[in-house]
Amino acid sequence: QIVLKDFTKTFDGNTVIDRMNLTVEDGEMLALLGPSGCGKSTTLFAVCGIHRVNGGQILFGDRDVSNLPSQQRNVGVVFQNYALYPHMSVFENIAFPLTVRKDSKADVDRAVRDIAELTHISELLERRPGQLSGGQQQRVALARALVRKPDVLLLDEPLANLDAKLRLEMRSEIRRIQLETGITAILVTHDQVEAMSMCERIAIMKGGKIIQIDTPKDMYSNPRTSFVAGFLGNPP
Ligand code: ATP
Ligand code: MG
Repeated sequence: QIVLKDFTKTFDGNTVIDRMNLTVEDGEMLALLGPSGCGKSTTLFAVCGIHRVNGGQILFGDRDVSNLPSQQRNVGVVFQNYALYPHMSVFENIAFPLTVRKDSKADVDRAVRDIAELTHISELLERRPGQLSGGQQQRVALARALVRKPDVLLLDEPLANLDAKLRLEMRSEIRRIQLETGITAILVTHDQVEAMSMCERIAIMKGGKIIQIDTPKDMYSNPRTSFVAGFLGNPP
């Protein structure tokens, strides 16, 4: 469970997130959906520990992680640009989070091979990122995010760099992997179709606030404001 309690974030005196409350249930994939600048990435960065909170709390289960550095939160993160290390092989990229904490070679080997199997990249382990397609690079980024078996998976516009066909394929692939691992996940997106097709619930944000949180079906059939209706009705 991920809980945000009155989470507040300011930059140079400007409040960009104002007392946000949100609970993501165990094993759930929740979408943070909203227009550019509404505070989606800021929220995700606070959950993963890149940003400090300026008010309120972030809890994983009953553990208050608000003041813990990112490495101690046990989160896996995938960003829009996969940020793979170009000079390393796929194997070394995925292994990196384990080698920095000095796991044994046998443990690293087993963990990388297991996660490569789950993400369907077992044949690509000797290649370099530059020798992969966009979808394959994204699978590597997912594998690297998941190799430490984190409690929480955070995805910030993971499909934005892919062409339409790959985007469709990777929507269902990310969802499959999330369901198979049972990991609790937050997907940040400004694409309502992506949110509706991948997530149990959607939280719609506007100007640093959540204005409605519902299942895709309830959100679509019963939008609480014209902003929500307009946002769901107009493909970007
Ligand atoms: P997008 O869909 O474009 O990625 P977003 O919803 O992820 O948008 P955020 O990146 O969370 O938006 O930004 C929310 C607000 O906070 C914006 O007004 C942005 O300008 C501001 N902001 C974000 N990061 C910083 C920063 N490091 N310093 C100052 N202002 C920031
Ligand atoms: Mg963003």
